[in-house]
Amino acid sequence: MTYITRFAPSPTGPLHLGHAFSALLAHDTARAAGGKFLLRIDDLDQSRARSAWEEQIYEDLHWLGITWDSPVRKQSDHFADYHLALRQLRDMGLTYECICTRRDIEAAASAPQEGVPEFGPDGRIYPGTCRHAHHAPQDATCTRLDMEKACALALPVSYEEQGPLHTGTHRLVAQRLISHVGDVVLARRNMAASYHLSVVLDDAATDVTHIIRGADLFEATAIHALLQALLKLPTPSYHHHDLIRDATGKRLAKRDDARAIAKYRADGASPADIRTMVGL
Ligand code: GLU
Repeated sequence: MTYITRFAPSPTGPLHLGHAFSALLAHDTARAAGGKFLLRIDDLDQSRARSAWEEQIYEDLHWLGITWDSPVRKQSDHFADYHLALRQLRDMGLTYECICTRRDIEAAASAPQEGVPEFGPDGRIYPGTCRHAHHAPQDATCTRLDMEKACALALPVSYEEQGPLHTGTHRLVAQRLISHVGDVVLARRNMAASYHLSVVLDDAATDVTHIIRGADLFEATAIHALLQALLKLPTPSYHHHDLIRDATGKRLAKRDDARAIAKYRADGASPADIRTMVGL
């Protein structure tokens, strides 16, 4: 099996040291394995994606000495594919339309129950207000996955079929997804797919076998594996690397332009200096 990995930045800001680490790690690993290193432009959020940032991504990666196997995939070319998958999940009875605004969700969560987590990988865990409301698609702000139904389908816990080990693991994963993740968004009124749905479809469409990404996405991986099971897509191997932090231990944010690769470059750093900085 060919080793295929990818780097998938969003063109919504400059690449910083954290991106450089992810990209170099995935690139070096693919090359050492004699495999492929793909570049994907995650321009799902068309309100924030800018072609100038996309150009900067190509320039920064070239400068770092990173080469990718063509073609470059852009999410904005695949919105129709996302719609199809969404329809598939809808036809399976696993989704519902949600009309809640952020403010509605905050208000519903104003009386937190003790011992119940409030935040998951996508922020505030959805309280389920619209789950059984049957709203019309034209009224909805987003489409959500009914996590309980999805888990019941993808993570069966019948002892006879699965055996004790599988059954136990399925139950644990399902419990965690239901309580700590909740009914995630699959698409929004102004966005063809959520991050979760789009990356799962893109990775499958490009035959990605290994995903190397930051530990900040660790919680999201269970959602991705669930979607893969529901859509009958293969699950790649996932490796989550440590995050690059600043001197005070704070995680680098995309907004932190002081850590932009272009900035280090303008200040005279070499690609080798960047490798040293990220510990490679
Ligand atoms: N576009 C995503 C990001 O910039 C990709 C993350 C992933 O590897 O799934 O974080």
